[in-house]
Amino acid sequence: MGLGQSLFAPTSIDFRIIGEKGVAQRLLEEAEQKDFYVEECRDDHANTLARRGSTYGAREMPAEEVSFLKVIVENARDHLPLRLRTELTGPVWLVALDRSAEGGMPHTRPDQIICYPDVYRTFSVSTLLHELWHVHQRLYIGWWTEVFRRMGWERWVSEDDLPLTLESHRRFNPDTLDAPLWCFQQTWLPIPVFRDVVSPKVDEVDVWFYHISLKYHVKSIPRELKAEYHPSLPLSAYEHPRELTAYLLSEPERYRDCPAFQKLASEVGDISFPVVT
Ligand SMILES: [Zn+2]
Repeated sequence: MGLGQSLFAPTSIDFRIIGEKGVAQRLLEEAEQKDFYVEECRDDHANTLARRGSTYGAREMPAEEVSFLKVIVENARDHLPLRLRTELTGPVWLVALDRSAEGGMPHTRPDQIICYPDVYRTFSVSTLLHELWHVHQRLYIGWWTEVFRRMGWERWVSEDDLPLTLESHRRFNPDTLDAPLWCFQQTWLPIPVFRDVVSPKVDEVDVWFYHISLKYHVKSIPRELKAEYHPSLPLSAYEHPRELTAYLLSEPERYRDCPAFQKLASEVGDISFPVVT
């Protein structure tokens, strides 16, 4: 059976808000056994340095935070795209991390965990949608690879390595760790690079664009990408097609007016957009 054709499609996502630190920590440990994200960061000099003074671990969720999260989830529930409702079949776990983790940025871990360090600062319906799309991208890697290919993106697996200046300052992202490098129109390879090479910080990153055949890089968005994507997308969206598509799908009203959006919409269909009630 193809995607979205299940006869017994659930009509809602099974969200599980994990208030207890111990339970959350066990989920994170299971995730670590699958993606080795914390270990990968630890094994890399710049990524270790960028996370100094921060702790990656679960924390207890106070009752008011659980209530707040419930409200966000309930507000989102009726608007969730049909594709997410029918294709995210297992539970989606919502886990609170130490507030210092990952510069406060929400992210996902395998297979269906949404982690957020600071719910009040960063959790909204559009953030929830963005993270749910990352969960979907984890579960349907082959399908997304094809969507990206049709949008001009191909995974970059080359005999040549990235120049050391780029590779040694590349910020790891848990949502893209398994396949970090993708090339647009066989030309431009975006790379998230720590802004300060001496004193890197996980939340201070620029995106550089490496020209794979001419082997130079630029620090501003190349015109080929500018022509496709909406000018109000944040620079950080350009680091990876998973980020670009998560942005486009979680705020369609904002980003609708660009060629990439039209291409994406024709690939993923109406069932991928929030339900307007
Ligand atoms: Zn993201």
